[in-house]
Amino acid sequence: MSNEPTRDQIEDLKANLAYHEHQAALIRERLASVPATNRVPEKDACPGCGERDADRLVWIGDDGDLVRCRSCEHAYRPNPAR
Ligand SMILES: [Zn+2]
Repeated sequence: MSNEPTRDQIEDLKANLAYHEHQAALIRERLASVPATNRVPEKDACPGCGERDADRLVWIGDDGDLVRCRSCEHAYRPNPAR
């Protein structure tokens, strides 16, 4: 008694894998086209690395006027001008 998968089982797994790879490709395509709603304005981007993802720019400091970039750990004061 062998634990080796049969040829049919291997073909099944291959088909399964192809299916899931196809699904993953579709998801990646959808994600790529998601509008960048969570971006800060260009003037508020990290001056160190240009990070604009609001989830990676964290307000720090008691008065909340400093932002720390989680991509490069640079802390900066976003442009206060409106
Ligand atoms: Zn940065």
